[in-house]
Amino acid sequence: MSSLEKAIIIGGGISGKLAARVLSDVYKEVIILERDNELEGPAARKGAPQGEHLHALLHAGEYGLEELFPGITEKFYDSGAVKINSTIDLAWFHHGAWKIRYDGGYRTTLQTRPHLEWHIEQYIKRIPNVVIRYNQVVQDLLYYEAENRITGVQLKTGPILADLVVDASGVRSLTSNWLHNRGTPIPEEKVEINLSYVSKQYQLKVNQERDWKIKMVYPNPPQEKIGGTISSVEENRYIVTVMGYHKAINDKEVIKSDNGFLELPQFDTNISRMLTYSQDFITL
Ligand SMILES: Cc1cc2nc3c(=O)[nH]c(=O)nc-3n(C[C@H](O)[C@H](O)[C@H](O)COP(=O)(O)OP(=O)(O)OC[C@H]3O[C@@H](n4cnc5c(N)ncnc54)[C@H](O)[C@@H]3O)c2cc1C
Repeated sequence: MSSLEKAIIIGGGISGKLAARVLSDVYKEVIILERDNELEGPAARKGAPQGEHLHALLHAGEYGLEELFPGITEKFYDSGAVKINSTIDLAWFHHGAWKIRYDGGYRTTLQTRPHLEWHIEQYIKRIPNVVIRYNQVVQDLLYYEAENRITGVQLKTGPILADLVVDASGVRSLTSNWLHNRGTPIPEEKVEINLSYVSKQYQLKVNQERDWKIKMVYPNPPQEKIGGTISSVEENRYIVTVMGYHKAINDKEVIKSDNGFLELPQFDTNISRMLTYSQDFITL
């Protein structure tokens, strides 16, 4: 057994969970501190709001997960994830043309992000030296100036010391703020794209002419700013995501009514490409 005692991971998203799995091989104790509540099943949560939109796990990601959590891919399928042939079951409109479909020998698993994350969490919970503590907001890093070392984290309830602290707190990273506050900001270069996503789930009526499991329509910039995806996911649902660059989609307007989505094709060619047979859509 290793002499390394305790590792703390800030954030229990996908990165935090995977870091915990890897560190459990070398640390005696691994603690994930997650600010959200524990969920009883796959569901969207406040700390990972992107989970409401379409996510795809590509072949290499699936391979990596299978290595860390043997058997996880079968668990995805057992609870309804959809197995597709990546280059046959995908209809992809890109640079003004539908891509050629052929058997490339690759598989993709379609599922919602909460479904993926929930399965990973079940594996994590079975690792004896890993514990997930929910409802824990890490407020600060503890720093020992004399050794120029992070020695732990500060919670509202008090400090926790550790030999290693991993920051997996996501897009609003605690470490970036911490460095900024100490006068060492991470250099940033910004390009404004003002990209917005709006997603909704539907069931689709049976239609013999539908020859895809996932459809992607990408805008051809700079002339086109709007695109979208429809993907089959678990429980016989489809997740529909519409995206617009440079505020091309008024997301607040679209989500006002259930029909907001289905009325969109009238105003953009790419959306009408995506939502062909909109009469097939059944609102959930
Ligand atoms: C619309 C959209 C679509 C995407 N599609 C894909 C896709 O198809 N495939 C793909 O691979 N990626 C996709 N991504 C990217 C993917 O969602 C992110 O890269 C991934 O979620 C990052 O995971 P993470 O664990 O690093 O961070 P996060 O998922 O952001 O998790 C961070 C965690 O830290 C917790 N946390 C934050 N601060 C604290 C704190 N102070 N104390 C305690 N806990 C804290 C949060 O609650 C959260 O659980 C997409 C992103 C978006 C926005």
